[in-house]
Amino acid sequence: MMPVAGDRFYFFFDVPLPKGTPANPDNYKAELKEHFQGWAQPVQNPIELFDPYGVARPEIHDVGPLDRFVKGRVALLGDSAHATCPDMGQGGCQAMEDVLVLTNYLTTTNVSVEDALKRYEIERKARANAVVQKARKRAKQIHGKNPVVTQQWYEQLAAEKPTEVTDAIAIVILAGPMR
Ligand SMILES: Cc1cc2nc3c(=O)[nH]c(=O)nc-3n(C[C@H](O)[C@H](O)[C@H](O)COP(=O)(O)OP(=O)(O)OC[C@H]3O[C@@H](n4cnc5c(N)ncnc54)[C@H](O)[C@@H]3O)c2cc1C
Repeated sequence: MMPVAGDRFYFFFDVPLPKGTPANPDNYKAELKEHFQGWAQPVQNPIELFDPYGVARPEIHDVGPLDRFVKGRVALLGDSAHATCPDMGQGGCQAMEDVLVLTNYLTTTNVSVEDALKRYEIERKARANAVVQKARKRAKQIHGKNPVVTQQWYEQLAAEKPTEVTDAIAIVILAGPMR
């Protein structure tokens, strides 16, 4: 659960399921109750209260890493270039970094659009692809695919100081163009 603005928040539940598992809003609550059976009451509350017709139930997967983001005067950015597992909260952030870098090269080039896009690709490919790989590794760890590994991750998380979490987030940000 995360605050959005005012008294609003967003929430999501994630469950590893086989690709193509049917999604029917009429079943969401029963399925979630089963998946989260035995979890604490704050987890049960939104399951009781949410409107199954007012939520999205996407299949989440990542893409890449891709070898190229650019061909001639065409450039990919955001998820089209590097759809990322949401486990580091970085997909949208990387899209914004793309925009910053792309805009800077396009507005300052005195060579050509193609050259600006090429520079964008060189700068962004390594960074965004590294985040894709890191988030993929994290996704394998934390969604209960291997319950022992996931349990260890939760234990480590519980033992960490809050500043260790924020420091880790800062390291990701400081490695990017918004430092
Ligand atoms: C559960 C979850 C949690 C996440 N949490 C975070 C987070 O905490 N922090 C973070 O930074 N990121 C997060 N992300 C990732 C983030 O949502 C995406 O990385 C981001 O939305 C990508 O932006 P985008 O503009 O590239 O693509 P999108 O947001 O997918 O935008 C693409 C748009 O193009 C439209 N479109 C598609 N095809 C066509 C067409 N043919 N013609 C016209 N329009 C079209 C689509 O309708 C859509 O509006 C999360 C993702 C998920 C699934």
